[in-house]
Amino acid sequence: MTIARATTIRGGDDGHFDAIVVGSGFGGSVMTYRLREAGLRVCLLERGRVYPPGSFPRSPYRFQRAFWDPSDGLYGMYNVWSFRHFDALVSSGLGGGSLIYANVTLRKDPSWFVREDLQHGGYEYWPVTAEDLEEHYDRAERMLNAQEYPIRHAPYDKTPRTVAFMHTARQLGWQPMTPKLAVTFANDGEAPVPGEPIREEHPNLHGRTRQTCRLVGECDIGCNYGSKNSLDYNYLSAAVRLGADIRTLCEVRTFRRRDSGGWAVEYVRHDPEREGRRTATRSLPLEEITADRLVISAGTFGSTYLLLRNVQGLPALGTHFSGNGDLLTLAVRPTTTRNGKRVPVLIDGGYGPVITSAVRFEDEVDGGDGRGFYLEDIGYPEFVNWMMQVAESPRALWRWRHIAWQLIRQLVGFERDRETDIGAELSAFMGGADLSAGVLPLAGMGRDVPDGVLKLSRRGMLDADWTIDHSDAYFSRVRSVMQRFAGAMGAEFHDNPVWHFGRRVMTAHPLGGCPMGRNEREGVVDEYGRVFGHDGLYVADGAVMPGSVGANPSLTIAAVADRFADRLIDDALRDRAQAGSSTASKD
Ligand SMILES: Cc1cc2nc3c(=O)[nH]c(=O)nc-3n(C[C@H](O)[C@H](O)[C@H](O)COP(=O)(O)OP(=O)(O)OC[C@H]3O[C@@H](n4cnc5c(N)ncnc54)[C@H](O)[C@@H]3O)c2cc1C
Ligand code: SF4
Repeated sequence: MTIARATTIRGGDDGHFDAIVVGSGFGGSVMTYRLREAGLRVCLLERGRVYPPGSFPRSPYRFQRAFWDPSDGLYGMYNVWSFRHFDALVSSGLGGGSLIYANVTLRKDPSWFVREDLQHGGYEYWPVTAEDLEEHYDRAERMLNAQEYPIRHAPYDKTPRTVAFMHTARQLGWQPMTPKLAVTFANDGEAPVPGEPIREEHPNLHGRTRQTCRLVGECDIGCNYGSKNSLDYNYLSAAVRLGADIRTLCEVRTFRRRDSGGWAVEYVRHDPEREGRRTATRSLPLEEITADRLVISAGTFGSTYLLLRNVQGLPALGTHFSGNGDLLTLAVRPTTTRNGKRVPVLIDGGYGPVITSAVRFEDEVDGGDGRGFYLEDIGYPEFVNWMMQVAESPRALWRWRHIAWQLIRQLVGFERDRETDIGAELSAFMGGADLSAGVLPLAGMGRDVPDGVLKLSRRGMLDADWTIDHSDAYFSRVRSVMQRFAGAMGAEFHDNPVWHFGRRVMTAHPLGGCPMGRNEREGVVDEYGRVFGHDGLYVADGAVMPGSVGANPSLTIAAVADRFADRLIDDALRDRAQAGSSTASKD
């Protein structure tokens, strides 16, 4: 498919805006929609591409080009970061992380919004409470059309991974749940059916028909059926419909306060036609637009980086970084006893949405015996199973050598009395597909210690000082629960391979860097996202979290941004009314 060049989805006022939003993830999309809905002239600048249904890469050829590194001619959606002690994955594209996320929309636990002091061995201070966010959570859930996995309906009730996860959790005396997912399983008022055309009240910005979830486990590599309710199908489609000016492939490089008031933003336009050719981003021509208010929503890394490069005098900038306690491990080849024999338990990780079930482990603030966390099942695309099958083939070949030999003899014609129907032999040759059918990745996430620091390296690149050392007790607790879980499944427990490189973790949930705080020593923004000492400048995304959310964070990011939007709209409308009345009095 052809991917549009630097696209203006909907043109607006090309000169001055009421607000510019940088980045279209959970923070930026909510902001863009809410501000436009309130009648403000909004321009959204997103560095990545638009991804309509069917455009997400699947072949090795396309995957090889699916990374984000424009200076090296790569304009894809995977933005992979590798720091000294950890790695991180975020996304580039219209809709930000929602394009590749696992759709889980959990709220932060009310008791986890504690207001103690991190410096004194307690927890980070949260300037907002669950109560403050309640109406915003409700609104975000409605917009994202979050719904439970229909586990009581066929064929969803036969999702082997979900069944095995829930069964094992119950066996251990834990209470599994099915968290709400931002996925469409059914048309309104109808029973869920995979692969049905979704009836939408308004056309989406791609102008394509979506389908109800087809259970193909590809949520983390982009849903080619449009079943995920990613931000392009809700907040951003609504913002476009209302006339927001959304510019993709536009990467913000600098911003500054204008002498005449407001903010000026300079950005470059990327040209994917240059795919595969090096293009120094800094050599691209800069375009400038201006606005009364500037909202930076470029994600934890993007927003902190932009502020580090463009704003002075913020002592807490870069602080409170954490990976939301992410830990990935594997339960491999689970077994159960049937008729006195150990038999494999089917997991079939490629069937069903990537995450379907979870168990919550209490924090010490709720009476638990450590920092709280969630344990979740993880699925993956079917091609990963084929890769495992291929990796297993030398072993399988040896195990099933007599069948292989018979097949070869048949194929080359040595077998006199030929068995002409060879389906059973071919099936046996696949060897039961034990490994590929029996891998259950486990995800843990929770309340690690947010004491990382994001900063600029000597070369001016983003760098991070963060190890899991201060969260040792937390990670040990999560890991031992996962070991118990694997044991109860009769499975082998395996750490994620990167763990063996000095207990390295990989996070999909980087948070912090521009934390909310009570003052500029504690935070970069106040409880409404306003940057201390920089009138009209806001940050609204995962960067403002003062610590880990604990649960998967996107719904909390959306809710916090929705709260910021309320205040920004009030301030903008008040300024507009004042400007109107002073013009009227001059007249
Ligand atoms: C594999 C995976 C699975 C996940 N699953 C879940 C899940 O199930 N539930 C959950 O809650 N969370 C999940 N997450 C995390 C979730 O995606 C993030 O927490 C969320 O997207 C963060 O939102 P954000 O607004 O902070 O930033 P992002 O979503 O990262 O958006 C930032 C946007 O800014 C753009 N940008 C950056 N710099 C610039 C610039 N200079 N100029 C213009 N644009 C710029 C980026 O391209 C991006 O689109 C997952 C993440 C991954 C990687
Ligand atoms: S399981 Fe498949 S069809 Fe369903 S949301 Fe995920 S990628 Fe889309």
